[in-house]
Amino acid sequence: MSTHAKRNIYMTDELEAIYDQTVEFVTKEVTPNGDAWEEAGKVPRDVLRRMGELGMLGLRVPESAGGLGLGMLASATFSEALGASTYAGFDVTVLVHTDMAGPHLFNSANDEQLERFAPGVLAGETILSIGVTEPDAGSDVAGIRSSGVRDGDGWRLNGTKTYITNAVYGDLTIVAAKTDPDNKYGISMFLVPAGTEGFSVATKLDKHGWRCSDTAELVLDDVWVPDANVLGTVHRGFYETMKNFQNERMVLVGMGVGAAQAAMDLTNQYCQDRAAFGGRLFDLGAIRQRMAMNQAKVDAVRASMYHAAWMGDQGVDNVRAMSGVKAWGCEVVNEVMYDCLQFHGGLGYMRESTIERMTRDARILPIGGGATEVMLEEVAKRLYT
Ligand SMILES: Cc1cc2nc3c(=O)[nH]c(=O)nc-3n(C[C@H](O)[C@H](O)[C@H](O)COP(=O)(O)OP(=O)(O)OC[C@H]3O[C@@H](n4cnc5c(N)ncnc54)[C@H](O)[C@@H]3O)c2cc1C
Repeated sequence: MSTHAKRNIYMTDELEAIYDQTVEFVTKEVTPNGDAWEEAGKVPRDVLRRMGELGMLGLRVPESAGGLGLGMLASATFSEALGASTYAGFDVTVLVHTDMAGPHLFNSANDEQLERFAPGVLAGETILSIGVTEPDAGSDVAGIRSSGVRDGDGWRLNGTKTYITNAVYGDLTIVAAKTDPDNKYGISMFLVPAGTEGFSVATKLDKHGWRCSDTAELVLDDVWVPDANVLGTVHRGFYETMKNFQNERMVLVGMGVGAAQAAMDLTNQYCQDRAAFGGRLFDLGAIRQRMAMNQAKVDAVRASMYHAAWMGDQGVDNVRAMSGVKAWGCEVVNEVMYDCLQFHGGLGYMRESTIERMTRDARILPIGGGATEVMLEEVAKRLYT
């Protein structure tokens, strides 16, 4: 039997409704079609528009901009529910839009920018991406080399971005560029629409997992953006980006927990159905004990994630809590996937099995959005005074 978001003390009727609606949506609209999307390397835009119509893309959008104005607990719930799809490539397509790129826009945009972009973002018409990582700078964000130089009533951008989710088929990338070369942290954020002259996809990257999520290497070749497309305060982009780090970390854990639970559920069923040694696989002590331990770990990660989300919503500093759960939780998700694949035997190694795909998909979780080692440093720094 599955356990999920509804069983925790932070749930409200509203969050339960979000959980139920999302699980229903992914079960009907995503899971039956996911294989075709994985093959195509793309999530169809009409699915994202449908989510927009249902109001699913506006949980974190302020009410003043047409959204629901909810907090981190809503994102925890939504991301966990998406994980039930078993197609993490779909989950991350949505979550980059709603929870990784979206908050930068909604935290920092001025009224004119909100008027210009919010309706399309809410409707699933304007799909967002966030372009920070570069070939020579990933974990060390301050090391980016893309430059923004003042030019007339705007800025001239040059550089390369890589591993950018949603940027092959998306519509609007929030690009980080160094605008104050004398200051390591002198970064600004720019709103760069797809199709802007000089802004192009160099490569659609071929990945180990998340196959239906599109990932781009981007080139900025003398791209000119007007002042109207500067997001937030010039030179302050690094600090403004940091405001969303805990949320970004959390939704990666959330989708991982949802996926781990789905993997547990399907493996549990498989072990109960599979005949072995005169009984079922699930009767073997080694298997049932490891399944039980894995369920305990998934439950613990889930509880820690919701608690850290609650702290964030209370305005309490949750960097240590969220970094810890990102580090530990994403490793746990991978351990669970490993065991679930193991208990499927040879079938688990076959491309036809769901668990084979889910295990590949989970591997990125301890790397993206803050590698485990980087997260542990965030915790370690806070262990002494
Ligand atoms: C599929 C995918 C999608 C992505 N989507 C986006 C996106 O939409 N936008 C975006 O901007 N970026 C995106 N990224 C980039 C992602 O956030 C980075 O890959 C991640 O931050 C790690 O950076 P890196 O790959 O440069 O590795 P590096 O920073 O070179 O690190 C390599 C390894 O070194 C170790 N390490 C790094 N720093 C430390 C440290 N301080 N202490 C100890 N060990 C350390 C870790 O094990 C790490 O995995 C994506 C990446 C992938 C693979």
